[in-house]
Formats: sequence, structure tokens, C-alpha cells
Amino acid sequence: MSCFELLTTDPHCAARRGVLTTAHGRVQTPAFMPVGTAGAVKGILPEQIEATGAQIILGNTYHLLLRPGVDVVEKLGGLHGLTGWNHPILTDSGGYQVFSLSSLTKIDDDGVEFASHLDGARIPLNAEIATEIQVRLGSDIIMCFDECTPYPVEEEKLRRAVARTIEWAKRCKAAHNTLVKGGANPTPIDPMGPISPTGRTASLLFGIVQGGVDPELRRQCAERIVEIGFDGYAIGGLSVGEGHEAMAQTVRCTVPHLPSEAPHYLMGVGMPIDILAAVMAGVDMFDCVLPTRNGRNAFAFTRSGSLRLRNSVHVESCEPLEPGCDCVCCRRFTRGAIRHFFNCGEMLGPILLSIHNLRFYQRLMADIREHIERGDFASWATGEMARYAGIEREP
Ligand SMILES: [Zn+2]
Repeated sequence: MSCFELLTTDPHCAARRGVLTTAHGRVQTPAFMPVGTAGAVKGILPEQIEATGAQIILGNTYHLLLRPGVDVVEKLGGLHGLTGWNHPILTDSGGYQVFSLSSLTKIDDDGVEFASHLDGARIPLNAEIATEIQVRLGSDIIMCFDECTPYPVEEEKLRRAVARTIEWAKRCKAAHNTLVKGGANPTPIDPMGPISPTGRTASLLFGIVQGGVDPELRRQCAERIVEIGFDGYAIGGLSVGEGHEAMAQTVRCTVPHLPSEAPHYLMGVGMPIDILAAVMAGVDMFDCVLPTRNGRNAFAFTRSGSLRLRNSVHVESCEPLEPGCDCVCCRRFTRGAIRHFFNCGEMLGPILLSIHNLRFYQRLMADIREHIERGDFASWATGEMARYAGIEREP
């Protein structure tokens, strides 16, 4: 049975409204996943994440593998036990962090060996290990191990990364079949029930399409990955410095090669304008650290632009951060109070702005879903993209 139900498609563009079903419950799409790097969305309680409207979060395999380690996470009730989040969780394969954070001590067609950025320990990672780790973490959605390339990158290196990504995807699928579909618990878990004592769930496996900003390589990679056959398909390797236009163009030329009956996930993207453009191209799922990372750095997203809360113009401001926002930050605190918290290092500042930014992203996703249902997404999104075009990425 398919994990994805396509409810409606916008008549004027490729935007889709759907429902994704996982072992820990359903996710209304298009959806945005807050990032819980080390098993926590930094500084935010599970109830507060729920109150923002988020239905699924992302965990980083690389960080959890290094600390506290897979054995410990399993003993603590899997990722759901560790996080206190009894709803869907997607884990990445660790590939992106291995290629961006650690120093690689070996890379070949089998996989990689890297030196931990914490203590330098040499750790092997390949398709089979990454799949087994994610199954043991109890992830609802497991990502294939892939080779991420930087931007820009030499063509030869990009081609080799695409070839490896395809071979590794085959091995991930075989490993996943053995580990999960072969015998472990295939029964869906009651999302309202107690947190599963065992980490293992009936996990879904998503394939990843690489290929940089080369449309032909993206097409070839997508076709091979679709041939292997996965529960969902991700577009990886974007938002690495190529810029909004190149990102949007690459998404537009990749999505048509993915099956329409499966969910489409754009990894690590992004800014509101990026999300709107990608939804317009037919993407259903997103994750990004920006709402929480920028929130911790006193940067707020609002519908009328970005705000820097350390700025002295806010000293005596009695205005809410964003008038009309229903989050606890906007309902109970003034801009002046938030600036004060940041100014004296009070942890409430980063917490409040993280909550507001996460709520901002979920309000954006709810608006997107509503306009797709109404059939006027394309014209609405064009206006919204102009509204968000001026927001800078970083504080
Ligand atoms: Zn707010």
C-alpha cells in the first residue's frame, strides 16, 4: 500500500496537496519539518513543537551516531523515546554531515570512513551501516546513504557521486528489505499511545536524486533511482550555494521524472521564497535549520520582512514581534522585552524567537495547503514570492 495519498493538484501549476502516512501518524503535505539535530529541536519542548503545527520532525543520524551512539538511543526507547516526540520522525543518512562537517579519511565505492569532529575517532559509514543505524534509531522515514557534492564541483566528481548514489541506493534498499520488511515489527504504532519501548518501526525508505545543477544528470539519476523503487523520493544536494534561481530551476527539471503517486522531498531547503517556488514545482516535504538557527541569533521571519531583535530601534517597542501571529512569543511579549532577553543573554530570547519562527513556517505551510485546496495557489504564491524576495538568509 502506498504511504502517500494525493488529494488534489493545483490547476495552474504542479503544486500538490496530499497526506503521508507513517508508523507514527499522518502528515498533511506540503509539510515543513523542524530539525532536531541531536534529538532535540534546540530549546523547544515537544508540546511547543506541536503547538507550532509541526506534524513531523527530522533527526540527524550523524550527530546521534557520535553522541550518544545507537546503542544508547535504542536503550532509551529509540528516537521517539529520546526526543519525547510521539509523532513521525524522518532521519537523514548522515551523508550530508559526513561530507560537510567531518574530515574524510577514506572514500571509495564501498562508502566512507570519517574522523569524528568531536574526538577524531575513525568511523566507517556506508549504505548498509547507514540503513541499519536508522532502523535501530526507530525512524519512521529512512533516507538512503548518498554522496553529496559541494557547489561548484568539477563534472567528473559530480558524475562519480551520481554513480555512487545510485549504487548505494540499491544497497540501501536491499539492507532495508532484510532489516524491516523481512521480519521486524511491521505493525503501525498508535501515535496516541505510549512511546514505543523498541525503536524499530515499520519504516519507509526514501531514495535521493543527486546531480548538482545539471538537468541531464538529474534526469538520469532520477530515472535510475525510480527504477530501484522507493516509498518516496528526495532531491538532495541543493541549497549549497547555487542560489535561488538555480535551485528552483533544478527542482523544476527533476520533479517531472519522479512518480506523481509518491511523496517528493526537497532536502535542506530553505527560505520562504525557496519553499514557495518548490511547492509550485511539485515538492511535498521540506526541512531546514533556518527558523531555529536564525531564531537563536535574534533574527525573526515575519510576513512583512525580517527583523533583527538586537537592533536598538526595538528598545522601547511595545509592539508584538508580528501582529496577528498566534504564537506565545507574539501573544505575550513585546519586541522591547525580546531585545532585552537577547541583550542580557537570557535563554528565553532564543526560545521565543525559535518558537515564533517555527510557527511562521507552519503558518506558511498551512496557507500553502489552503490555497492549493482552493485552486488559486499559483497566483497567490507569485505574490508571496515577491513579498519574501528581499529577506536575507542569515542574521
Ligand atoms: Zn509569533
